[in-house]
Order: sequence, then C-alpha cells, then structure tokens
Amino acid sequence: MSRPLQTFHGGIHPEQQKGQTRAVPLQPYPHPGGELVIPLNQGIGSANRAVVAVGDTVRAGQRLSECFTPLSVPIHAPYDGTVTAIERRPLTHPSGISCLSVVIVPDDDTSPPAPTTDLPASTSSASLDALLATLSTETLIERIRMGGIIGLGGAGFPTATKIRKGEAQNIETLIINGMECEPYITCDDRLMQDHSDEIIRGIEVLNQLLKPTEILLGIEDNKPEAIAAMQRAATASSARIEVVSCPTCYPSGGEKQLIQILTGKEVPSGGFPHQLAILCQNVATVYAIYHAIEERPLTQRSVTISGDGVAQPGNFHVAIGTPIRPLLESCGLTDQPVSVTVGGPMMGFPLKNLESSITKTVNCLIVNKSATSPSQNSPLNCIRCAACSDACPVSLLPQQLYWATQARNFDEAQSLHLFDCIECGCCSYVCPSYLPLVDYYRHAKGTVRNQQREQVKADHARNRHEFRDARLQREKEEKAKKLAAKKAALKAKKANESRAQHESSAVEADKKATIQAAIDRAKARKAAL
Ligand code: SF4
Ligand code: SF4
Repeated sequence: MSRPLQTFHGGIHPEQQKGQTRAVPLQPYPHPGGELVIPLNQGIGSANRAVVAVGDTVRAGQRLSECFTPLSVPIHAPYDGTVTAIERRPLTHPSGISCLSVVIVPDDDTSPPAPTTDLPASTSSASLDALLATLSTETLIERIRMGGIIGLGGAGFPTATKIRKGEAQNIETLIINGMECEPYITCDDRLMQDHSDEIIRGIEVLNQLLKPTEILLGIEDNKPEAIAAMQRAATASSARIEVVSCPTCYPSGGEKQLIQILTGKEVPSGGFPHQLAILCQNVATVYAIYHAIEERPLTQRSVTISGDGVAQPGNFHVAIGTPIRPLLESCGLTDQPVSVTVGGPMMGFPLKNLESSITKTVNCLIVNKSATSPSQNSPLNCIRCAACSDACPVSLLPQQLYWATQARNFDEAQSLHLFDCIECGCCSYVCPSYLPLVDYYRHAKGTVRNQQREQVKADHARNRHEFRDARLQREKEEKAKKLAAKKAALKAKKANESRAQHESSAVEADKKATIQAAIDRAKARKAAL
C-alpha cells in the first residue's frame, strides 16, 4: 500500500528546464591544469586556520585546515600538489566578497579526484559492514566531521553536528531528501541513478547512528529513473528504506515542506525538525557520509552545468576549489554570457566573479545568454492581488512583509515572521507587478542579523567595560586593604619595639638599682666597721 501523502500550502509549478542535463550521466571533471583555490570559509561556520604553508607538498585527501567551533569543518586537498599561496581570493557568495584561500597547483600527472565509481557495491558493502561493526558511534561521527561533510543541498550545516543533535533527541523518522525541486538542477537525480548503492550505504550509516523507526526517501515523481534505481538498491539493504514518490511542486524539497508531505507534521515557527524527532539529510550529503566513513573526505561534489550559454551542459563530479571560468569553458561557454546563476533560478544568486571557485555548497551553475528572470523587468506598484500569499509555502503574508521591509520597519517584519521565510522566491515568481519581494526579505534579514551582531558586540564591549571597572575597583580596594594591613603591621611592630625597649630599659634600671643597692649595702657595711 502506498504511503498517504499530505500537501503544504501554496507552491508553484515553474517550467522545469531539466531536459538539457537529466539524461547526461555524472562524469568526473578532469582538472585542466592551473591552480585550485580552496576557500578556508565554507558552509555556515567561522573560517578555518590553514595547517599547511606555502611551498608544502600535499597529498590528495590531506587535511589543509583546522577549525575551532562545532559549526566548522576542515577542508582537504583534492589532488596531490604544491601549496603556492595562502591569500584572499574571490569567494562564490552572493556578496562577492573575498576569503582567505589555500591555492594548490596539482601535480602534472594528476588524475581526477577520489574514486566514486570504481568500488564494486559488494566490496563496499562488506567493508562498510565491517566498519559499522567495529567502530564506535563517536568514531563514526568524528569521521564525518573530520571528513569535512556539510549539508550539500545548499544549507551548508555541519552534518556531524546535526547527527549529534539527532542522537540526543532519539530520532524516530529519518528523511532522505531526493526531491531536487528547483528548475535546471539534475545532479541529485543523476547521483541517485548513477550511485544508488553508495547512497544506500550512507543511509545505512545513519541508520546505525540514529536507529530511527522509519526511513523515508522522498523523490519527486518527475524523476522516475531515480525512483526505480533507488527502489532497486533499497531492496538489497537491511535498513528498511521506503522510497516515496512525491508530486512535483516547487518547493517540495524544502526541509519543512518535505516533512509535511511525508509525515503530515508541521515544524513550528522558529522550530527545528529534531524537535519532532525527525532528521533530514540530502542524498548528496548521504553519499558523502558513506565516503567519509571509508576515510575519503569531501574533496569533490556533483554539479549541474546548464543554460543556453553552454554548448555541452552536463553533470560532473568537480573538485572543490576548481575555478569556475575554465570549468564553464570546458562545457563550451558560448560567447560572453549575460549571467551566471549559482544554484537554481529560484533560490540561487548571480555569480559576481568568474574567477571564484567551486565550494562545497555549489550544486549548479546556470549560464544564460539572455536575461529571462522576472526580476529583470521593471517593478510596478503592488496591486494587492494576494497572489503572493496564495503561493507562499510557509503561509506568510508576503505583501505585508514587503510593506514592512520596504519601510525598513524591521520590528514589524519580524512580527510577520520574517525569519520563517525560506527565501523560496514563489512570491516574486507569481507577482504580476514584478516586485523583487524575496530580495527585500533577504536584505531585511541581513540587516537584522547585522543589527543583532552589532548589539551582541556592544553588549560584549559594555560587559568588558563593566568587568574592567569592577576589576579596577576590586584591585583598588585590595590595594587599600593591603596598605592598611601594612600600616597596622608597622604600627604594631613599632609598638612592640617600643614596649620591648621599655621593658629592656626597666630591666636595665632594675639591674642598676640592684647594683646600686649592693654598692650601698657594701658602703654601709664598711661604715659600720
Ligand atoms: S503578488 Fe505582488 S502585486 Fe500581488 S499582492 Fe503580492 S506583492 Fe502585491
Ligand atoms: S520567499 Fe518567503 S515570503 Fe516569499 S513565498 Fe517563499 S517563504 Fe513565502
């Protein structure tokens, strides 16, 4: 019996645009020579510190950095090579900022990074079973952390931290996200078709760590080949994985939307899935988890390259740090592109610099010769049609959020649940006035976060100042106490000395008196004779 599925509010059906790449199998992208630029700041954690120096030779898979917070994971060398620089380079990020990066020139005879297809499934399974039987939970999670695994669906949250949270909450439902609902992107679809066994091995690792009562793998019904491949692979697994075909509707791949579709449960405003005993992982992350357990860190990821600006679109295993320009050129970059979008057209961002490189969260590059996004049209006045509210999958009031954020009334925006907005872009997509609604929300969130950061900094500074004042006052009082004690001790010493002197004088006087008395007695005796 097929599982009863629920729906979420809103959602849209944009043109899928997946035909260019969905039939193209994942293939290794051979490094064309030149340098790899691996940013020290990837995912949501703070920047790492390099543990290699310029001139060092490195081996493929070698750790290049150390990190200091639970939200950071290390980075690794994708190839054997030499570190030629550690310096700021452009980062593939909406802001276009630069970031301290480790620059490696691979050895000439280098081959594509870490193997992905040459492990026979039976051997992999046997070796994984042996590892799962012998390694402790802590060791398995540490391998995932030290393998540099973060959420590869775009969130960039450290996977080991998420698993630890899940362990603490006794996860009942493990959800694997194979929805890939954004237009153009097909790399997860191909990963499921081309690497289904390895994805299942990764799910088995999570099954061992979390011991959920059910495992659901959700895939949109526009990927029948992926559904068939995953069903075949799941049948051979001991992990009891239910592959669920879900209706195609954007943004059904959003974590909260997928949970609602599969379980009917709604993650509360500001809440997290683990509070409902649910943990979600993307298929590409699960695939990377399997490799990390076999001590092959995250040095490459699957990327879709699509759009009318490339002659040979496709899906590739690309080394982290690969510069984007030669990657696009190898796909037949046609003339000068009008725009390159990182990620999908709904949630992605325009690439600011072709010299930046592939990071762990880049899953798609869309190269367009013409500007086709609705946001390229001139915005008109809001006509209060409510189409945005009807489309919002989080049941927000995008029109009111628009008024609040446009007026920079961020308190009002927060009371309208600004931070529940998943930035899916459905509201902007349906808006007949071409209002770039989601841009307002992103900007407002950034401003509020900055204000909160500034407030935290100001609070820290005030606390530091108050602490310093208190310390100086305490030191002053301690100094005064010490001085008083010293004075008292001196006074007591002087008093003691004076008393001792007095006593000594008295003794001396007694002695003299005794001698005088003896002399007087002697004189008296002499006079009496
Ligand atoms: S869809 Fe656009 S025009 Fe319609 S209410 Fe929303 S913001 Fe206004
Ligand atoms: S971008 Fe935000 S407000 Fe707009 S539809 Fe998506 S969740 Fe709703």
